Amino acid sequence: MAVLVVHCGAHSTEEVLDGAEGALTAGLQVLRQGGDALEAVLRAVTVLEDDQRMNAGTGSRLNLAGEVEMDASVMDSRGQAGAVGALSGVKNPVLVAREVMRTPHLFLAGEGAVRFARETGFPEYDAATSRARRELERVEAKQRSALGGSEASEKPGPGETVGAAARDEGGYMAAANSTGGISIQLPGRVGDTPVIGAGIYAGPAGAVAATGIGEEIIRAVLSKQVYDRLLEGKDPQMACDEGVGQFPSGIPVGLIAVASSGFGAATNTRMAWRSGQV
Ligand code: ASP
Repeated sequence: MAVLVVHCGAHSTEEVLDGAEGALTAGLQVLRQGGDALEAVLRAVTVLEDDQRMNAGTGSRLNLAGEVEMDASVMDSRGQAGAVGALSGVKNPVLVAREVMRTPHLFLAGEGAVRFARETGFPEYDAATSRARRELERVEAKQRSALGGSEASEKPGPGETVGAAARDEGGYMAAANSTGGISIQLPGRVGDTPVIGAGIYAGPAGAVAATGIGEEIIRAVLSKQVYDRLLEGKDPQMACDEGVGQFPSGIPVGLIAVASSGFGAATNTRMAWRSGQV
């Protein structure tokens, strides 16, 4: 039996559950038609990147310079991986990460990643939406009033980052994720999403994707930690629960994982997610 889990990010609400459902349906269809786990997670994540409500692909957050800089990654149970960081001007960063996976490199960032995307056939695309522009204006106004001492300063927050993990009938597993970053970020900031071992990890024991405050997830090397629990033979739900359990509620985190024994999903905040089997 094949399994797919998708999520819309730590902090995402029920309002975007239909988005998770649409991505799940598209990914399950790939598995039903004989596609493998990697193809299924790429399909699910591109559907979510194209959903303007998500903070990934079209609709990504803007950094403090008013630019979209996106991070994405993909990794499979054979240990193959590809990632992009601070990538701008493409529609589907996760597909660029897939192209990186075909090269001898693991991770491309910034200008070089953009050049690589163009050379591998990704046309120029503006992922900034008017909703993202309004959100940046709101954050900036709040910061300004905080500097005036009238209000508490807004903390950087996660939300609507997207991810998927799958196991196909052959037992092959993969995870993928994609984000526009956190709500307040400097140009050039790269979070956990494309960092192998932090936002993503996969190997023969399973595939894991994380969401939440990237700096904390990197510090904890969270996805590799959860993977190591799978390697010990832990149930994926327990591995995800333990992974999330080490963070206080003030640090929002979410995890999804698949293994040969099943799947897991856990968060210490809200997280719109869905799973399905074929
Ligand atoms: N982990 C992402 C980042 O720090 C944000 C998120 O998951 O919502 O860039």
